[in-house]
Amino acid sequence: MRYIDTHSHTYLKRFNEDRKELYSEISEKLDYIIDIGIGKDSIDKILESVNKYEFIFGTVGFHPTETEDFDDDDISHMEEALKEEKIVAIGEIGLDFHWDTDRNKQFKALGMQMELAKKHNKPIVFHIRDAYDEAYDFIKKTGIPEAGGVVHCFSSNWEDAKKYLDLGLYLGFDGPLTYPKNDDLREALKNTPIDRILPETDSPFLPPVPFRGKRNDPLKVEYVYEEISRIKEVYDERIASQLKSNSNKLFKLDR
Ligand SMILES: [Zn+2]
Repeated sequence: MRYIDTHSHTYLKRFNEDRKELYSEISEKLDYIIDIGIGKDSIDKILESVNKYEFIFGTVGFHPTETEDFDDDDISHMEEALKEEKIVAIGEIGLDFHWDTDRNKQFKALGMQMELAKKHNKPIVFHIRDAYDEAYDFIKKTGIPEAGGVVHCFSSNWEDAKKYLDLGLYLGFDGPLTYPKNDDLREALKNTPIDRILPETDSPFLPPVPFRGKRNDPLKVEYVYEEISRIKEVYDERIASQLKSNSNKLFKLDR
């Protein structure tokens, strides 16, 4: 069975030591990964990776905690990167009220980047943390591109899940599905239609059980698949082909 990981950050420093070895193993076991942008520095790194490695696709975006100095120059920089066809989405963008970043700046950067996504009709990868109500209101008011989007690392309950599904978005699920305390999250997954689910790792963050406390990597997406299979009661090749077809549809891939 072959996997995909629709949300990773393998360009980060934490992979510098063994990136080559990791990539060669990933290319054997996974059909592709999507490396997700988080700010200015990530743009050129991701462009380099997608040009060098066939199995890597990328996105560009400014994470809500990287929006202090966000301005029109950043939009131009992103727009330039979008000329590369392996840049398949805008993200990760959104609201994060867990950290102490100026909320007005977060809203402003989110709005500007959503407009960019609509202008180029690119899907959006949303990052939402401790702000499910506020993000819902803002996304609903602003409107998503026709190309759609995903709430990455969905981490709330079924009530919130349903609201975002009703906006037409996919939900991404990660290692926290395997954490003992997350019954609400597992219930949200159970109720989410199987054609609206995306498998993610958020590597190097959020390692699944039994790797908590260690660095996460895209190979560990296998544990996320296992948990999705178990909860949705859909197994092996069927789950693999369903999750890949969801991702291919959203990110317009054929691989
Ligand atoms: Zn991420």
